[in-house]
Amino acid sequence: MDTLPHYKSPQPAEESIPPPYKLASIHAHQGYSTVDVSGTTIGGNKLAVVAGPCAIEDAKQALNIAREVKKHGADLFRGGAFKPRTSPYSFQGLGIKALNILDEVRAETGLKIVNEIMSASQSDVLLKHVDVLQIGSRNAQNFELLKCVGQMRKPVILKRGFATTIEEWLLSAEYILSEGNTQVIFCERGIRTFEPYTRNTIDLSAVALLKTLTHLPVMVDPSHATGLRELVIPMAKASVAAGADALMVEVHTDPDAALSDGRQSLYPEQFEQLMYEVNLMAPFGRSQSVVHN
Ligand code: PEP
Ligand code: MN
Repeated sequence: MDTLPHYKSPQPAEESIPPPYKLASIHAHQGYSTVDVSGTTIGGNKLAVVAGPCAIEDAKQALNIAREVKKHGADLFRGGAFKPRTSPYSFQGLGIKALNILDEVRAETGLKIVNEIMSASQSDVLLKHVDVLQIGSRNAQNFELLKCVGQMRKPVILKRGFATTIEEWLLSAEYILSEGNTQVIFCERGIRTFEPYTRNTIDLSAVALLKTLTHLPVMVDPSHATGLRELVIPMAKASVAAGADALMVEVHTDPDAALSDGRQSLYPEQFEQLMYEVNLMAPFGRSQSVVHN
């Protein structure tokens, strides 16, 4: 068949030149890999969902939200203990008190616990309380911290830096992997652009692209990516359509009173709706054939 006159066939892939992210590369593993979070699988044919408030505010708030998200099918619970806030005057999180509350959440609901590590000095305490560590967007290129979690034997959710390219993000993962920790999950959470209506700009092509570049699972956080709760369900569905293995969403029983990120937090009924809609999209599990470029 003739090609269109303006169509130039793509250049052959430079197969002889391996990508600089050796361990994260799709060629480094037979098929897609999965990450085991204390018995819950991230990646593979079932969508995994992390849900919970931006920050743990008190035990009642955390337990109420955890019961709601558990009821509607979440697998993991989030709720920051140490919060990276733009202003030093904003709520910084309850710290160790929050981690003790998260122990209660796990004991009552069985939900696995996600929490952000902001400094190597928090590693010992977080190891005791969490099932999966999170590297936040602001630390996506904190190479010493990446090496530190690379030496910890816990899975890591690696958020995309709000100004990092996809290759830089893959190389951040490489810092963790090359220290011996193979349990890395990428999390797209939006990048900073010129658009002020949304908090960030969600980059869903990054999700589809990562599925061609890496064997590691890919999560999307439509809450921080948009900043607006009315956009979270549509962008969660779009994320699943783009090939996401997992979602992370903020949920609050009283978003107006939330100490952080209330505007982007779903009401529990909206979380129920989200779960219903994403399960409609993949009722029989997700396809797992490797996407070749
Ligand atoms: C968070 O998930 O609590 C958070 C602060 O996200 P990000 O690092 O993506 O801004
Ligand atoms: Mn938040």
